[in-house]
Amino acid sequence: MFEGLQEKLSRAFKVLSGKGKITEKNIQEAIKIVKLSLLEADVNYKVVKKFIEDVKRIALGEEVLRSLTPDQMFIKIVKDELIKIMGEKAPLKIVHNPSYIMLVGLQGSGKTTTVAKLANFLKRKGKNPILIAADTYRPAAIDQLITLGNKISVPVFTGDRKNPVKIVKKAVESVKNSGYDVVILDTAGRLHIDDEMMKELEEIKSLTNPDEILFVVDAMAGQDAVNSAKTFNQRLDVSGFVITKMDGDARGGVILSIRYVTNKPVKFIGVGEKIEDFEEFYPDRIAGRILGLGDVLTLIEKAEKELDQEKIKKLGSKFIRAEFTLEDFREQIKEIKKLGSLSKIVEMLPGAPKVDVVAGEKELKRIEAIINSMTPEERNNPKILNASRKKRIATGSGTTVQDINKLLKNYEDMKKMMKMFKKGKLPFGIRGLKF
Ligand code: GDP
Repeated sequence: MFEGLQEKLSRAFKVLSGKGKITEKNIQEAIKIVKLSLLEADVNYKVVKKFIEDVKRIALGEEVLRSLTPDQMFIKIVKDELIKIMGEKAPLKIVHNPSYIMLVGLQGSGKTTTVAKLANFLKRKGKNPILIAADTYRPAAIDQLITLGNKISVPVFTGDRKNPVKIVKKAVESVKNSGYDVVILDTAGRLHIDDEMMKELEEIKSLTNPDEILFVVDAMAGQDAVNSAKTFNQRLDVSGFVITKMDGDARGGVILSIRYVTNKPVKFIGVGEKIEDFEEFYPDRIAGRILGLGDVLTLIEKAEKELDQEKIKKLGSKFIRAEFTLEDFREQIKEIKKLGSLSKIVEMLPGAPKVDVVAGEKELKRIEAIINSMTPEERNNPKILNASRKKRIATGSGTTVQDINKLLKNYEDMKKMMKMFKKGKLPFGIRGLKF
């Protein structure tokens, strides 16, 4: 996410690094690079204009805070402006019971997937959602929603599968007093905006009186997406946006333009194809990610939500007591995998560390395969691993005896470190683990 923009902006900060103070000359140069970076990132030109005007005014007017160097100061100014341009965080509005949420958008934007992601998000918050499959236009959209609904154990209302307005009419009747408190509507998109679609959506809007109408946009579609958002908003008065496919977007043009152009907030972002790849939109956290400052808060929230806290606690105390076995290690890898791919985790760390995530993923897979091929006894007491056992494990896991020896060596190093932890003396200069 944002790799391209991040890399370009970092050049602007380099101009100021090592400088004693912000001067008219060095700031002009840095601002010029920011401007180009934003334009190349496909940010709407009006947004860029406003952004640059504000940064210039603030940067030249500001005393460099004594605690900050000029580059840090400039990063702070750019970060504040990024947050401003993305607007305040706007929570999802749920007023009525049942509360209707209409998802609208063009075909392929990720609308049907988002219906399921949103339902899953609300279910985890204690809501009892039901879905209405009214995308009769895209073949297979209804079956896709049924499959997704099954996956998250949320019912899907399908009706006659032909006429979206009729489906919604029927659904509204059957949802009344049914105990479902949120009704999420998948509506029919089209390849392009057309009048028939808009009329249909207006009719569905008046039938359901929704608390939210969310327009789903594909981040990769750039300014085309922003323009269609504008048109949809003029016609339907949407309440906000979901920006999908942020995981593939190196530029950030949509997320930085849509609020300013439409005056409506982004409420969620899609960050992958899986149902859990869905986040509430926090402008400050996104600004942090754009600037490579990381997003540790989202990572912590993810860890709290996805990980088995009891298990983590147990593993942690075993580590401190220096009783961590290979079995525990396997459990730990399983837990970490719940947070998503390594690349997604690394992206949220400050400084966007340059880690070879592909090699890292491969290594984790290899370690897991090796431990999986061991017997429980071997996992708990690796000392019994003689040459013939190692050979058996190598064959079973598709690795080599050297791979197993490397894992065991790292495990022994880790044990030594755990023991030092236990004694309260961690040697200075320890490099960490090589797993
Ligand atoms: P619809 O026509 O708008 O209903 O689109 P779909 O929900 O069928 O999504 C179109 C494609 O985009 C599917 O292959 C989805 O898996 C994919 N998709 C949706 N959201 C995301 C996302 O946030 N990230 C990625 N990488 N793919 C997504």
